[in-house]
Amino acid sequence: MDLEKIELGFRQILEGLGENIHREGLIDTPKRVARMYQELLSGLEDTSTEDDLLGTQFTEAYDEMILLKDIPFTSMCEHHFLPFTGKAHVAYIPGNRIVGISKLARAVDYYARRPQVQERMTRQIALLIQEKLNPKGVAVVIEAQHSCMTLRGIKKSGSNMMTSQLLGIFKSNPTTRAEFMSLVKG
Ligand code: ZN
Repeated sequence: MDLEKIELGFRQILEGLGENIHREGLIDTPKRVARMYQELLSGLEDTSTEDDLLGTQFTEAYDEMILLKDIPFTSMCEHHFLPFTGKAHVAYIPGNRIVGISKLARAVDYYARRPQVQERMTRQIALLIQEKLNPKGVAVVIEAQHSCMTLRGIKKSGSNMMTSQLLGIFKSNPTTRAEFMSLVKG
């Protein structure tokens, strides 16, 4: 990431706004904004592979649902460059392999910390688990508040956007899907 370039760009935004970039409160703002973007978008500099993310697996005969609920995340709407924040719920039914639960939270962050749209992020998390664990099914639900919606335009503060991606048995079996949905809501 080229922090100097981001600083330069943000200085131009301030100038474009007609601000005095030399006044006390603003003098270091471009630098702070550059470091903030580096943190919020750290996924862009994360060189982890899919194997790093879900590589450490354990063989287990457990064949019921594993659900990690309420994984908090912050991402960045790539259309407006304003954050969206919320919770991800990630579930799978193992084939014969499981991963440490913290790996799922880590995968959520990996995809969140970059310019995103919620729909794509939901799908990316589900496909990663599908691909690396080969489970019987995967379900990902994300609920988030988009500041590009709550701060501007129609200003519907408090409204949550929900997206879901269901694969395998979660898609084909209504009972499994219903069990997942009731656990997520409960
Ligand atoms: Zn947006």
